[in-house]
Amino acid sequence: MLNANQREIQLHGINASSGICIGKAYLVGREGVDVVDKYFISQEHLKKEIKRFKKAVKKSKDELLSVIEQTPKKIRPHASILEIQMALFKDKRLYAKTIKTIEKELVNAEWAFKKVVSNVKAMFNNMTDSYLQGRAADIIHVSDSIMQNLVGAKTESIAAIDKRVILVATDLSPAETSQIQLEQVKGFVTDRGGKTSHTGIIARTLEIPAVLGLENATRVIKNDDIIIVDGTAGIVIVNPTDQTLIQFEERKDRYEAYKAGIARDSHLPAETTDGVFFQIMGNIELSEEVVSVIDYGGDGIGLYRTEFQYFNRPDFPSEHELFDKYKDVVEVMTPRPVTIRTLDISGDKAVSYASDSYETNPALGLRGIRYCLKKPDIFNTQLRAILRASAFGNVRVLFPMISCLDEVHHAKRMLNEAADSLDKEGVIFNDNIEVGIMIEVPSAAILADVMAKEVDFFSIGTNDLIQYTLAVDRGNAQVAHLYQPLHPAVIRMIKHIADVAGDHDVKISMCGEMSGDPVNMPILLGLGINRFSTNPQSIPTTKSIIRMLNVEDAELFINEVLKETTETGVMELVLSTYGSILFEIGYTE
Ligand code: PEP
Ligand code: MG
Repeated sequence: MLNANQREIQLHGINASSGICIGKAYLVGREGVDVVDKYFISQEHLKKEIKRFKKAVKKSKDELLSVIEQTPKKIRPHASILEIQMALFKDKRLYAKTIKTIEKELVNAEWAFKKVVSNVKAMFNNMTDSYLQGRAADIIHVSDSIMQNLVGAKTESIAAIDKRVILVATDLSPAETSQIQLEQVKGFVTDRGGKTSHTGIIARTLEIPAVLGLENATRVIKNDDIIIVDGTAGIVIVNPTDQTLIQFEERKDRYEAYKAGIARDSHLPAETTDGVFFQIMGNIELSEEVVSVIDYGGDGIGLYRTEFQYFNRPDFPSEHELFDKYKDVVEVMTPRPVTIRTLDISGDKAVSYASDSYETNPALGLRGIRYCLKKPDIFNTQLRAILRASAFGNVRVLFPMISCLDEVHHAKRMLNEAADSLDKEGVIFNDNIEVGIMIEVPSAAILADVMAKEVDFFSIGTNDLIQYTLAVDRGNAQVAHLYQPLHPAVIRMIKHIADVAGDHDVKISMCGEMSGDPVNMPILLGLGINRFSTNPQSIPTTKSIIRMLNVEDAELFINEVLKETTETGVMELVLSTYGSILFEIGYTE
């Protein structure tokens, strides 16, 4: 029941994991972490104070260890980050330095620790140490946990939540997300994070609705407030009116009934009502996810983001380590295709040990293929591993962030050199491996006809293509409203790429998030894209929506779409033409 001065508030964030949930908010606090008193200790108390600090560190360490041991199987592949955090407990920049500060300044452990941690945080801001830069979030999570144990604050154990709630937090640490019990947690809402953050990935893996990057959720939402999380649209409604509640309850029921139905049909082919077949593949980040692509009825791997194998470790993986993982994926998927994308680090995916210098604008910096061409040894190691894996199934190689023809020539030359060296060593590989490029930079899209002569396939990376076409940072919540997949400029850009691919007989697929959102499907079909790769959980939805559409109609529809001049106009046209289908699947009211 709302009291008179409560009113409905709508918050907009990033739609990190689709679905709707309605329930009571449960705030996961950072109690005792921010306000710390300073007091001096006597020389006699010194030993005791240091012991108190060591005890707090040990307690945090034991807690994390038990989280690691109890991590549910489903999210275990994503929990390796916790092992890295274990090592931080003994990091001398935190541990030894705190003890030294207590000794030297004769201050209480909380104050010494807070001082040491804030110095480390200042180092991140100056970004002079790439190791610390990469570990910033981990150090914050670890130090919060130690501080809570030091001050004896009530630590919230997510595992101990005994009612069905929606978690609301500034941020959820990997240790916290690893403890989530599906029976208790209906959804997530956080101030920080985005689609590619750890929390976002876990929410999708667990298929829990999540809206992230809201900035002020923890200020606006109070414990036990009734909230609606619409993870599909990226909206959170606080203290909804009765009318809003009824509307969303109905929509939730429709969405859930639809999800149950499509799960049953996910192994059927994606065939439109006029008999055209589409290939729906999955995007994976870790080799272990290959199982979920098969479970969700995927026709192959359309994008294997190999950079994740370079994260959470102190140095570059060896050829053998890479080969092992690729071979695992290829063997499980065979005869279905596996598209292995070469290393796409930097930008939003920083690898601490890999960067030699600070970049003011990493999204426009040394990322993707630019990085690999500048580091031939690292690139060669990966190319050899991919080629070796190609002997075990249907492997295709994909180069990311191509922005000019020279990069395609250079990358292909290096691929040939890797093949020659394997040949000389008598190693078996597929010498006819398909080579493709990501079209995710506007220059590559504009030069698609030139690129088409060089490669076997294009894969449209809409996550970056939208970012670079519209000059909108894909991870910045402040400009999230300007990140519009259905912006007329984006639609025209995709049309150009698809038309050129058709003219030059180059295979074309789309692997950005745009292909996992049902609202975009009539347009993408109308533009002539016939292969899609989405996160595994979206495969059943993508297949099912295709089964409800008709290519002939979509081709007529696109002519109307191309007349629209604004994103709102395009969206209205989609909703008025395909509203009944979107309603049926719980997408609209
Ligand atoms: C893309 O940019 O659309 C894409 C699929 O690549 P990533 O999200 O890994 O940058
Ligand atoms: Mg990209």
